[in-house]
Amino acid sequence: MALKMAIPNKGRLNEKSVQMLNQAGLEFDDADERKLYANVKRRDLSVMFLRASDIVRFVHSGAVDMGITGKDLVLEQDADVKLLDELNFGHCRLSVAAPEGSGIDTVDDVKDGMTVATSFPSMTKRYFAKLGKKVQIEQISGAAEITPHLGVAQIIVDLVSSGSTLKMNRLKEIAVIAESQAVVIANKKAYKEQKEQMEEIVSAIRSVLDAENKKYLMADVPTSKLDDIRKFFPGIAGPTVMNIMDRTDIVAIHVVIDKDKVYDAIVRLKKMGATGILITPIDRMVP
Ligand code: AMP
Repeated sequence: MALKMAIPNKGRLNEKSVQMLNQAGLEFDDADERKLYANVKRRDLSVMFLRASDIVRFVHSGAVDMGITGKDLVLEQDADVKLLDELNFGHCRLSVAAPEGSGIDTVDDVKDGMTVATSFPSMTKRYFAKLGKKVQIEQISGAAEITPHLGVAQIIVDLVSSGSTLKMNRLKEIAVIAESQAVVIANKKAYKEQKEQMEEIVSAIRSVLDAENKKYLMADVPTSKLDDIRKFFPGIAGPTVMNIMDRTDIVAIHVVIDKDKVYDAIVRLKKMGATGILITPIDRMVP
């Protein structure tokens, strides 16, 4: 039976999830945006498009075998699922925020009986209970930032990434409850039964993520500078050095380098007398 994998159908995690799977070589056979599921070409894998929060529930119950969703949603539902990997996108944190000038500057200023508006009631309850504070929870489904200004709540617990939405609404972050990012999760029973196929998918995704921070650099360098090159470019297994036909004074080098080292590398190579420097992206890196 085909493995069922759920990915977010819209919202912040959708685009990157689809792009990452395609780049990993898992292409959908019919990319109609209105479709709720798709088969993956040449693979025994079906992809379901669902709301990020429903993905946690359905992976937990076994309705789907695995899925991509936000770690915050897994924590909120306290789902008993297997965390297969963290995907290094969709970074955010679940934070406590209070209106600027309210006198609530730290969680110590939060008093018993205060109301907290949030769409994360379980984590909020657990957090304040641990601090020994008896707060009222006002569960909302979004736009928590407006609630203190409506007099509905004194403070909020919401997801924050840059902090600009809080600032725009004259709120300040006073504590972080949990850090989050996109994750791959699996149903525990399904994982036991189809471990190999799931690990294969995760490793394909990982190869895309690993490649994102790297570039492939090619250059023709003076043969006399090879010792310097060796010191500067460790590469995956050291730089590849190739002969250029009819030339003994220069060789071609190919090397994988960190994206943030490209600028310095070019400056250094030019100083060494390198020519024909090419930088290209890498689709996937499989160790
Ligand atoms: P969606 O509601 O479908 O846009 O997905 C929301 C998920 O995106 C959250 O559960 C988080 O995992 C993630 N996310 C990343 N940054 C933010 C942010 N600033 N606000 C809300 N959700 C975020």
